[in-house]
Amino acid sequence: MVGFKDKSLRVIVPIAVLVLILNALIPINAYRILNVSHAKTNHSRETIDKATNLLLAVVDAETGMHGYVLTNNQKFLEPYYAALAKLDSQRDELNILTANRPNSKKSFILLANRIDTSLEQIKKIITISEDSNSKLAIVMIRSGEGKTRMDLVRASVADLIKIENQQLQLEAKYESKVNLYSLLSLIFLTIFDMVMFAIAFRQLFKSLKTAKEIEQELNHLHRLSLKHSAQLKARNKIKDIQARLTDQLHSVLTPQEAYVAIERFCTYLFPDNSGTLFIRSNSKDYFQMMAQWGNSTYEDNGFNPEDCWASRSNNTHIYIAETETIACNHLSNLSQKATASTCIPISSSDEMIGILTLYSQPPHEGGLDEDTLEVANEVASQISLAIANLRLRENLKKSSIIDVLTGLYNRRYLDETFIREINRSQRLKESIGIIMLDIDHFKSFNDNYGHEAGDHVLHEVGVILNQACRANDLACRYGGEEFVIVLLNADLNTTVGRATVIQDQVKKKQFMYGGQPLPTVTVSMGISMFPSHGNKPDQLIRCADEALYKAKHNGRDRVEIAANSIELQQ
Ligand code: GH3
Ligand code: MG
Ligand code: MG
Repeated sequence: MVGFKDKSLRVIVPIAVLVLILNALIPINAYRILNVSHAKTNHSRETIDKATNLLLAVVDAETGMHGYVLTNNQKFLEPYYAALAKLDSQRDELNILTANRPNSKKSFILLANRIDTSLEQIKKIITISEDSNSKLAIVMIRSGEGKTRMDLVRASVADLIKIENQQLQLEAKYESKVNLYSLLSLIFLTIFDMVMFAIAFRQLFKSLKTAKEIEQELNHLHRLSLKHSAQLKARNKIKDIQARLTDQLHSVLTPQEAYVAIERFCTYLFPDNSGTLFIRSNSKDYFQMMAQWGNSTYEDNGFNPEDCWASRSNNTHIYIAETETIACNHLSNLSQKATASTCIPISSSDEMIGILTLYSQPPHEGGLDEDTLEVANEVASQISLAIANLRLRENLKKSSIIDVLTGLYNRRYLDETFIREINRSQRLKESIGIIMLDIDHFKSFNDNYGHEAGDHVLHEVGVILNQACRANDLACRYGGEEFVIVLLNADLNTTVGRATVIQDQVKKKQFMYGGQPLPTVTVSMGISMFPSHGNKPDQLIRCADEALYKAKHNGRDRVEIAANSIELQQ
């Protein structure tokens, strides 16, 4: 099929068909022509034979007549009668043979006339001799008339034979020409056939070659399709893992849970690459290592922003060994040297929150292939979304329990957690110290220095209180310029000691606002203790508030302890 598309074949095939037809036609035609020619030749030969026989019959008649005249013996007339018996039929045959040949016909008519004349004369001499006038008959024979007539008959026969011989020569020439042309045509056709065969073989060879090439191409396509279906299968598997990672990241409650999930899933998503997830710390000057997978381990906590080209440019950075690409400094912390690395920035709301790095190690060389890079980019987006969600959740949670101005817990949080802490301390048989703190004369401070300056002081007091507390303690803004500090597992001495430190720190703090120093402020504090002053939050807070009132009443800038405490120690 392929061969017929070849333009040359569109010309060659019709010519080949024509030549094949000629191959058959030329011998058939030559045979037909030669047959006709042979018939003509036979015809001429027969004419010559008949003319010769006719002459012999006339000669026989003449000879018989001579014998009879000389001997007067009837026996000598037998050849004469035999010749007469044949002559008519021979003459008719010759007449038919020369019918379609004008020259021969003309010659035959003359011959026939001359024969008739001769036979008449012979018959006349025989009749004279029969009438017993032999002498006259001999005189007539001797006159030579008979010889002259016979010579004329011979001449006519010779003329007819000559005409037919000429015809024979023409036919012989024609036949040799036909033979020659046939031979030449057959030689030409044989050569052409050979050329045709050569072309056909060449074409066949080409077609076979093309068929082989097509087969190879088909094999190649088959292998490609197998490879593609394997790739598709692998891609679907990866998509499935990615979908499950998304689900998992939706359900995590803390960043730590998210990092564990990322570590597990990335092991399957990037089976040929080690990887590390770095998350930017809140101070923004450090990328902390949060998750890692694969053969190579990252042997440090993280890196500084300037140690990663992706962090510097906020673009994906690819490094491939022995090329013009540059390796990031943080690669030096890997347990196994990387032959290639890809650092992908993880961004959320235009802020870079982390770096996802994938490494290649021997025997793997070169950067990530297109599909893996695509997956890596998608994973980076998934991580970004998950962390953004967790941070949002964290912020929402914080905003509902944290006081914005001071950064301390709000009263609502205290109400929710205080009873829980009391119960827990009761179980553990631990005491709790409660400090109620109020800034002295804060109204007049606001009046004198403005509400915003007052806000600044509130914020700074919040910082002091936060720093004065341990991780488990609760420092809350109770309302306005009042604060409650719950010190877990603290006895009265510890509580008083902490309150005194706070009192001292606030008093000594030099507040600045708008570049200007503000006057110092003092705080008054009232202390109650669990279980000495009760085992309910409102009881304990009321007692602390009463002690605070006492502190105000006694001149402010002091710490007072609630009365009726069984642990009361001064
Ligand atoms: P005392 O020593 O008796 O506590 O006097 P005081 O003026 O501090 O007490 P008072 O209860 O009369 O006034 C409390 C003031 O605290 C009034 C109010 O303007 C101020 N205050 C409450 N909340 C805020 C706040 O959020 N920001 C600022 N700037 N001031 C506040
Ligand atoms: Mg107050
Ligand atoms: Mg006050």
